Amino acid sequence: MKRLLLLFSIAIVSLGMGIPVHADQPSPIGQPSAFSADTQSTGDNSAQTLRAGERTLRIPSSTPLPIEGYRWPTRKLKIYMKTQDKALQIAFRNAVKAWNKTGAVHISWCQDEEQADIIAQDGSLTASAPTATVGYVSSQLGSTSTEYNPDTHAMIRARSTLDAGQLDYTSRTFRTEVAEHELGHALGLAHAPEYVHSVMIPRNIKTGITKNDRATVRILYGLPQ
Ligand SMILES: [Zn+2]
Repeated sequence: MKRLLLLFSIAIVSLGMGIPVHADQPSPIGQPSAFSADTQSTGDNSAQTLRAGERTLRIPSSTPLPIEGYRWPTRKLKIYMKTQDKALQIAFRNAVKAWNKTGAVHISWCQDEEQADIIAQDGSLTASAPTATVGYVSSQLGSTSTEYNPDTHAMIRARSTLDAGQLDYTSRTFRTEVAEHELGHALGLAHAPEYVHSVMIPRNIKTGITKNDRATVRILYGLPQ
């Protein structure tokens, strides 16, 4: 039996049109999620085996904002643009620039999906909402699924989805903030408490990446604040 065990974490930001609904919970370990099959279908086994052999990454014990407990083994990451939607492309590109500006990671665009660490895509999130089972009926603007090795805490692949149907009616700035939130998950950040200034607050996103977010992602990747 292969020792490599993949766990999936789902984080979804859900923002209705002026009526934000919190539907953003990581799926419990071991439970199937609406996204796990999708994530597995694009898995690259050779890359996973290689990364599984790497030593355990150091995850800081405390950070200004919550983290998920895993991160990428490298600070140089590749992202693949899988959406044709112009507005979403701009949002993703701006979000990548904003995270790069923190100095914690350097995310660059690549042309080959198989080579990418992060996939930036569009999709309808309303229909496949895993939260439907717990009684939410919501319009979700974005979601991110992450695949990681629980032994090494190393992320293997992340997939951030923005819902064009929902986001078409919002502003360019807002779309960028939602993209920043999703890519924050793709870097290993968890949700911030409602009362702090952070792009990682699960609802009512009114800000881009803040000093708190910057400090947290820098500590996560072993850099001074
Ligand atoms: Zn979220």
